[in-house]
Amino acid sequence: MKDTDTPREPGFRDSVDLMFNRAVALMDLSPGLEQKIRVCNATYIVRFGVRLRGHIHTFTGYRSVHSEHLEPVKGGIRYAPEVNQDEVEALAALMTYKCALVEVPFGGSKGGLCIDPREWDEHELEAITRRFAYELAKRDLIHPSQNVPAPDMGTSEREMAWMADQYARMNTTDINARACVTGKPLNSGGIAGRVEATGRGVQYALREFFRHPEDVRRAGLSGGLDGKRVILQGFGNVGYHAAKFLSEEDGCRIVGIIERDGALMSETGLNVQNVRDWIGKHGGVTGCPEGRHVDDGARVLEEECDILIPAALEGVINLTNAERILAPLIIEAANGPVTAAADDILRGKGTVIIPDLYANAGGVTVSYFEWVKNLSHIRFGRMQRRAEEAHHLLLIEELERLSADKRLGWELSPDFKTRYLRGAGELELVRSGLDDTMRTAYQSMRERWHGQENVTDLRIAAFTVAIERVASSYRAKGL
Ligand code: GLU
Repeated sequence: MKDTDTPREPGFRDSVDLMFNRAVALMDLSPGLEQKIRVCNATYIVRFGVRLRGHIHTFTGYRSVHSEHLEPVKGGIRYAPEVNQDEVEALAALMTYKCALVEVPFGGSKGGLCIDPREWDEHELEAITRRFAYELAKRDLIHPSQNVPAPDMGTSEREMAWMADQYARMNTTDINARACVTGKPLNSGGIAGRVEATGRGVQYALREFFRHPEDVRRAGLSGGLDGKRVILQGFGNVGYHAAKFLSEEDGCRIVGIIERDGALMSETGLNVQNVRDWIGKHGGVTGCPEGRHVDDGARVLEEECDILIPAALEGVINLTNAERILAPLIIEAANGPVTAAADDILRGKGTVIIPDLYANAGGVTVSYFEWVKNLSHIRFGRMQRRAEEAHHLLLIEELERLSADKRLGWELSPDFKTRYLRGAGELELVRSGLDDTMRTAYQSMRERWHGQENVTDLRIAAFTVAIERVASSYRAKGL
């Protein structure tokens, strides 16, 4: 093989564009519109100094806006030393397609700060975050109706609370100030179920996939989720919640967990909570008494299992290992974990991939609910919960009256009354809204996958549905 024939690993941004190109090749878009959708509208780089430990430290941050066909634009802010323009642009593009696919009315954006959060104390991180938020807010890159950040790798509720407070200090009369970021703690305008949302979405996505025996067969699997062997890569917020729900509620066996410092494996299944607690205390899996430790964690991606869930960084399944991946089903809980080159190889082998723009959309979906809650200034369920209960009580009382008549020979089961009377609170409503969103979006991908001959995989199905929706927004604007 000549050197030029060797498959090349594209960068992250190129990888997303290659997937986009594969989808638009099957569509009938004008070349101008195609390009308009593909390109990133703007990327802002801010450099700012913060005086810490007796010195001025200069930090570099990014906020990239991929598409403003709908506003506000939406997407997380990541804290990691490797953050760069290529990465935030790729992630911003994925946000555009993700929001379109799950019908969340936002454009796509993403941000990042080049920092290793583990190197700084909490009060230092607060000073850095507030200064970063100030730089973004003064350019309307944090704004309830323009650009609404959220947590991503290396950030959490804590950073969102600081950012929201910083914005509120700069906009003291803005009644909607709280809607300037999502993923806030509950006591600062957050919503129940946001922390678990991405992991919960992965669970709902898998449940929906397994409701379709034909799709399950395409992956060479059979039956339901019960007893399926799962390997997870990355045990942060997303990986942990996905593993917890799949093992506790769906009977999956978590046979492998891969972290930065190695992996844990157990054929009988790892105890998810014990692993989480260990990592919380020791910062990694080394020394954890659960299962057996494997030093070369990356190799565990290549172990046999039914479902592989990459839930950390982009590009972990690439040209170097794609050929050796044995899992017949991959669900992308992270953004961009499979490179475009690896995607080609895996498709060739018949691996079914549930793509990131669908699989990890749970986070932004619940962010949308939080944003709506902030703008409506009322907790979901507050008006109707007791009214629903009272309505249900009418029925219960009537049933109780009838069952008191022993001649009819039937009675209510013991806990029916409590279960039936329980009105839905915010958490139940959020989960139900998320479940509905995940099911509906899967149906729209599935229709393409099965209904259009040249749509051979779920990723291209997802991209075509999303791009079509973005295109029709642009057309409606007269572009
Ligand atoms: N960072 C998450 C993602 O990549 C959430 C974004 C959001 O909630 O806006 O989807």
